[in-house]
Amino acid sequence: MMGHRQVEQAALFYEFSLDRHIPADHLLRSIDRFVELGDLRRELAPFYSSMGRPSIDPELMIRMLIIGYCFGIRSERRLCEEVHLNLAYRWFCRLGLGGEVPDHSTFSKNRHGRFRQSDLLRRVFEIVLRRCIREGLVGGEAFAVDASLIKADANRQKGIEGEKGLPPEATGRAVEEYLAVLDDAAFGAATEVTPKFVSPADPAARWTGAHGGQAFFAYSTNYLIDVENAIIVDVEATTAIRQAEVLAAKRMIERSTSRFDLCPAKIVGDSAYGSAEMLGWLVDEQGLEPHVTVSDKSARKDGTFSRDDFTYDHERDAYLCPGGTMLTTTGTLVNDGATMLYRASKRDCTDCALKPHCCPKEPARKMPRSIHEDARDIARQIAKSWEGRISRRLRKKVEMLFAHLKRILKLDRLRLRGPCGARDEFILAATAQNLRKLAKLVPMPNLKPA
Ligand code: SF4
Repeated sequence: MMGHRQVEQAALFYEFSLDRHIPADHLLRSIDRFVELGDLRRELAPFYSSMGRPSIDPELMIRMLIIGYCFGIRSERRLCEEVHLNLAYRWFCRLGLGGEVPDHSTFSKNRHGRFRQSDLLRRVFEIVLRRCIREGLVGGEAFAVDASLIKADANRQKGIEGEKGLPPEATGRAVEEYLAVLDDAAFGAATEVTPKFVSPADPAARWTGAHGGQAFFAYSTNYLIDVENAIIVDVEATTAIRQAEVLAAKRMIERSTSRFDLCPAKIVGDSAYGSAEMLGWLVDEQGLEPHVTVSDKSARKDGTFSRDDFTYDHERDAYLCPGGTMLTTTGTLVNDGATMLYRASKRDCTDCALKPHCCPKEPARKMPRSIHEDARDIARQIAKSWEGRISRRLRKKVEMLFAHLKRILKLDRLRLRGPCGARDEFILAATAQNLRKLAKLVPMPNLKPA
């Protein structure tokens, strides 16, 4: 028998439970268990006036942003439409069927106003991280650090030559933010090198050709993760320069200790974090095992002896050369106090048969030694060990998080401009990644694990 379509008829009363229509295994149902925003209103109270039009409810705003970043919906207009239409999104936002979804322009205005001043997004990130710690997902033994370039919302064709500087007509929020971070070591003060091009739309974005292909304007997102379950312990936005990324790593390690009392035994990282100064900081100041590839440019390519051909004698504080002669130091520091110079005697070198392979153009061989060389030696020893090999594999966990960020959460290009925009987007994305990880690793009470 042919069926009949039930034609919709307006009814005076509906009995409809949103909760009953959200599948038990829906990602948002699982995530909802870990979103604890009860205290936000009290904390945000000082940022709101008691007069005037009421703003968007901060919890609604955060819940909408979590949906946006968990499902890769970063257009504010589309997010408002999706929340309006999608039952699961309405349920997660506690809106009910008739609840009013904010207009996208109001949403945008609120997002860039009080919310930014209150540093609310970092608070939400920390709330989620605390929950990860409570659930036992953060081992706290080993952390890995890395950075990834994210394209800025700046047209590469409209860049102006860096030497010319910003034109006077360049104005707006991104320009104001750029001026505000000129002295910040994570942005303007990271380097004295003038970039080849500057974007008038987002001048804090750095022109970079680091990927080897076409250069573009970018920011760096920096992650510090706990390697046990790849939980993001901290996130920081910086300009796309290595010095800034190293600074971000230091800030994140210190903050994870001060805010959460997390004191890992080892730090895993690639050669970007393997400078002598950084290794000295990790070993001597923080007491951490550096599972970091040493950045070493001492190998010579002209066939003469490299530093590795010389042996350092700790007891005598001297290098032994391949010819069996000692290179000693007077203790004078060079290179802004970062290096100590060791020298062979001119008489020994002049009479040496190995001189053409050692210092053919100099009267005697000189050997620079970083004041942090002991820390570099520790990192070299770890790299040769079995543990070092395992650590190199663990580095992939951060790289996989960046791949997830770009491919699944679709954050391969920023939508917001300026350092604050980059920071907000990176924190939200890291929060979403941690929430998704919680949902995956902590089974729902009424669902049996697969
Ligand atoms: S040239 Fe001098 S430093 Fe080099 S191997 Fe001979 S003695 Fe040693």
